[in-house]
This record gives sequence, C-alpha cells and structure tokens, in this order.
Amino acid sequence: MFRRLRQWLCPDVAIDLGTANTLVAIQGMGIVLDEPSVVALQKGTRRVLGKGTAVGKLAKQMLGRTPDSITAVRPLQDGVITDFELCEAMLRYFLQKAIRQRRGLRPRVVIAVPGGITPVEKRAVFNSAERAGAGRVYLMEEAKAAGIGAGLPISEPMASMVCDIGGGTTEVAIFSLADVVVGRSTRVAGDELDEAIVEYMKQHFSLRIGTQTAEKIKIEIGSAYPLEQELTTEVRGLDTISGVPRKAIVTSEEIREALREPLEAILNCIKSVIEQCKPELVADIVDTGLVLTGGGALLRGLDLFLNEQLGIPVRVADEPLTTVARGTAICLEHLSQWRDSLDSGEADL
Ligand code: ADP
Ligand code: MG
Repeated sequence: MFRRLRQWLCPDVAIDLGTANTLVAIQGMGIVLDEPSVVALQKGTRRVLGKGTAVGKLAKQMLGRTPDSITAVRPLQDGVITDFELCEAMLRYFLQKAIRQRRGLRPRVVIAVPGGITPVEKRAVFNSAERAGAGRVYLMEEAKAAGIGAGLPISEPMASMVCDIGGGTTEVAIFSLADVVVGRSTRVAGDELDEAIVEYMKQHFSLRIGTQTAEKIKIEIGSAYPLEQELTTEVRGLDTISGVPRKAIVTSEEIREALREPLEAILNCIKSVIEQCKPELVADIVDTGLVLTGGGALLRGLDLFLNEQLGIPVRVADEPLTTVARGTAICLEHLSQWRDSLDSGEADL
C-alpha cells in the first residue's frame, strides 16, 4: 500500500544514457524524453549556455556549426565519459526536465550504461544522478537492457544474443540464465560509419563534408547489402582542390563501399563473441540467432549482410532506437527480481 502511494507520488525513472541519445522513461508513463546527448558550452569556460538551449536537440544542431565563442560537445562520445562535469550537467538537465520532485521524495533510478565503462566513470554517473535528485541509483549494462527490451528470453537456460549499435559503441552480448555469458564492446559504431563517409568523400570526390552531413547521407542512402533499388543523393561540401563549395551526386553503391571497413569490424566483433562461447550455447545461437538494436540497426540490409556472413538468423528489433530505454523500464518494473544483478554502487563505496 505504502509502496503504491509512493509510486504514485514519485514514480521510478529509467534512463538510457547513450553516446548519441539519452532517453528517459517514467514508470507508468513510458518514454517522456528522447534527446541527443549533446551539451553546448561557452568556449574556454565550463559554463553551459543559457538554460534550455544548451542541452539536447538544440545543442546537437550546433555541433559542427558553432561560432568561435561556443562549443558543442558530446560528453560520452566514445562510450567512455570524456567529460565528467559535462556528463553530470547533462544528466541533471534531463532528470530535472523529466522528474517531478514532490515532498522531498526522490525516485529510484535505473540507468543503462555502456559495458566498457570504468569503475571511476560508474561512480561519476552515480554521483551525478544523486546530485540531480535521484534516490537509489542502479546501473545496468546497456546490452542487458537491449536484450530485455528486444523481448529475448534472457533468463532462460538457453543462449540468446544481441548486438546494440549506438553512436560511439557497439555492444555484443550472449545471455543465458539472466546473465551476460560473453560480452564485448567496441568503439566501432555509428560515428565510425559517419567518419568513413567523410573519408570516402574526400578520397573519391575531393569533397570535404562534416560528420553531420555524413550522418545524413548514411541515413538517407546508406546500406550494408545490395538494395533492390539502389539510391542516390546530392551532397554539398567544399572542393578540396579549388576551395569553393560544390555539389556532387553519390550512389548507395559508393556509400556501401565506404562503409565496408567499419561494418567488417562490427562483424568481427560479433564473430569473436561467438567464438568465445561454449559449444552448447553456440548450438542455441544457431537456432535463436542474433537481434540487432540501437540506431545502427536501422542501416539498410544490415540484417542480410550479417546473416550471410554469420550463417545464423538475424533480425532487427522493433523500434531499435528505444529498445534499451524500454528494457531498462521493464527492469525497473521488476526491480525486486533484477536488483541483485544490478550495480547499486555499494561494492565500491
Ligand atoms: P546511443 O545508444 O549510443 O546513444 P543510438 O542507439 O541512439 O546510440 O543510435 C545512434 C546512432 O544510430 C547514430 O550513429 C545514428 O547515426 C544512427 N542511426 C540512426 N538512424 C539511423 C538509420 N536510419 N540508419 C543508419 N544509422 C542510423
Ligand atoms: Mg544505446
């Protein structure tokens, strides 16, 4: 009874603290916030720009096109927290936007974080969340949240496998009996795909473009496998020889060629996880296959490419961009069941 009242007054909060996007879900309400993990700063200072404009969507628009007086940064760029203070500022902003604080009650918060995060970084996340108004804070591995969110039977004595491709990191994990049996995190993910397009345009078109433009090209015409109908798009950039702006038409075949190397790195990461797995579990995986989550899973033909290369069934989760947030929210709903397997920050106090 008391718990229900408390829940009503101060619902629990689930957060997907991603390198590219942060999502916040509130118990009973679903996802209430979904914004880029970007903070804008007054250059040369640690001052976050004027309230409300400095974090999230607006800050992302500033990436790559800020005047000299402003910088826009992603505090978790490579899956590690590159800047603790900024990470805290961002988390505080998102939490305060999402949480209604009432009568001094503080919500319980479960945060999904990249698997490769160090103990020091974990502590920073705990502290930031607490300072931002959270009560009890629990951290969970992003890959596990992805598995739960994708509806995998991760608690069964049968192996299931997930690959979450975010902005900064790709997390691959095989689960059995509610735990990660083998997991690996690599820095090759969406950002690397964008970088590969920037590089390709420079090499083959003598055109300098920014990573934001590259991301747009990737989303518009990018693919990992031949398309039934190949696509083209117009790209604007700076001619590296004449130094003047120019347009060019690129095809999806060309972009596929540009993405080949980073996609192979992701493939190899998945292969290495399968290789480390016990034979019985590998036998399960051959049946149950691989589920793709994270924004990177939306790349056209990625499932076909991986299926051809790995020889196991591959499917893209429903709404891959929100899988981790939904998995974290499910975990929060069944906190008593999951609590022991989460990191409550007590071990390293
Ligand atoms: P993170 O968990 O690290 O915050 P997300 O799961 O939110 O990352 O995914 C962000 C990444 O997904 C970005 O690199 C973005 O470019 C990429 N992405 C989003 N939509 C698409 C799409 N349709 N095709 C390919 N990549 C996409
Ligand atoms: Mg993610």
